[in-house]
Amino acid sequence: MDQNTMAPETICNHLETRLLPPDNYALATPIYQSVKFAVKDFDELKRIFRNERTGYFYSRHGNPTVAQLENLLAQLQGQETGLATSTGIAAIAGALLSLLKSGDRLVYFIESYRPSRVFAEKILRKMGVQLTRLSIDDKAGIQAALALPDTKAVIFESMTNPQVRAPDIDFICAAARKHNVLTVLDHTFAGFQKLKSEQCDVVIHSLTKFASGHGDVMGGIILTSQKLRQELEENMILLGATLDPHAAYLILRGMKTFHLRRKAQCENALALAQWLEKHPKVEHVSYPGLPSHPQHAYFSELYHDFGSMLLFSLKNKKYPIEEMVARGQLFKLAASLGSTESLITPALFFFAGDLSAEERIQAGIDATSIRLSIGIENVADLIRDLEQLLDRVN
Ligand code: PLP
Repeated sequence: MDQNTMAPETICNHLETRLLPPDNYALATPIYQSVKFAVKDFDELKRIFRNERTGYFYSRHGNPTVAQLENLLAQLQGQETGLATSTGIAAIAGALLSLLKSGDRLVYFIESYRPSRVFAEKILRKMGVQLTRLSIDDKAGIQAALALPDTKAVIFESMTNPQVRAPDIDFICAAARKHNVLTVLDHTFAGFQKLKSEQCDVVIHSLTKFASGHGDVMGGIILTSQKLRQELEENMILLGATLDPHAAYLILRGMKTFHLRRKAQCENALALAQWLEKHPKVEHVSYPGLPSHPQHAYFSELYHDFGSMLLFSLKNKKYPIEEMVARGQLFKLAASLGSTESLITPALFFFAGDLSAEERIQAGIDATSIRLSIGIENVADLIRDLEQLLDRVN
């Protein structure tokens, strides 16, 4: 139909699409804020739908802006492919729901992001998945659990939330491979560094944290092989926790400065950890960059940085930290981590409420444990803020 013959309300809904000439492209990733993608021929549409050719059909199945983010992160992590999700927990939930069926066993750890554990215990258990909950230090337990005939997957974090510790990744991967168990790594705290260790079958990130970096958008990603993608993709489309193209654009923009932010955050974190370790009211600081961290040598060997998260506890175990953690002038009492601004979180309330008293001791969390996410502010200002917070402690 000739546009000149159309009525205004028809023209408004059937614009002529402005395509770029083949030798001309936008330097910033365009936001394809479109649910639907058309092609001229129904057969071609069917081929796109069946993954027989590249092309887009419906944004829940795939979107060019989101695909750009998936490709970038897969490349950074040395994985073949990526599936972006609306949040980090959607990536964890989607991967585990897709890989596990009733009767399978999942091995998971007390040193992990609490909602990941709760997801396993509330939802996977209801589906009939068997669960084995261990400490990352329990190597005999890990070995035995991975050898059980029904064990299908193990999920662990490369820098645990909130302890900032690490499991022995090569040990877990070797045992898992021996028994045909899938390894699922939540790599959120570690950022997009490629570890000098075995590659896991599935690598997950909450993109809400270091990738976006500015605390203004949520997202997640599952990075894996083409083969496993085939097992995951249809489920992920049906679960529907798709990443919005505008969110993908913001995360892609965040990734441009990821390495600069991460470097500044890690430098600040080390300086703060060193300062805190010398403070007379502080009992213990867990930061892998400190020689006192039990895994300092392990992190130094396998990781490219020590991260920007730290956990510390007070000498006065009776001191109620609730009031103090809300008095930060720069360190804001808020959820999340990995952004440009520093955050403070009481660890027991947020991360260990589901653990038994014995497990809390094993996981290294007590009533005075405080998690810090370090931003890119001036380190002297951050120290001044921690100083005024610790001055309140008796
Ligand atoms: N994994 C880890 C280690 C996290 O710390 C978080 C959130 O804090 C998540 C996953 C979940 O990410 P999201 O909040 O984007 O769902």
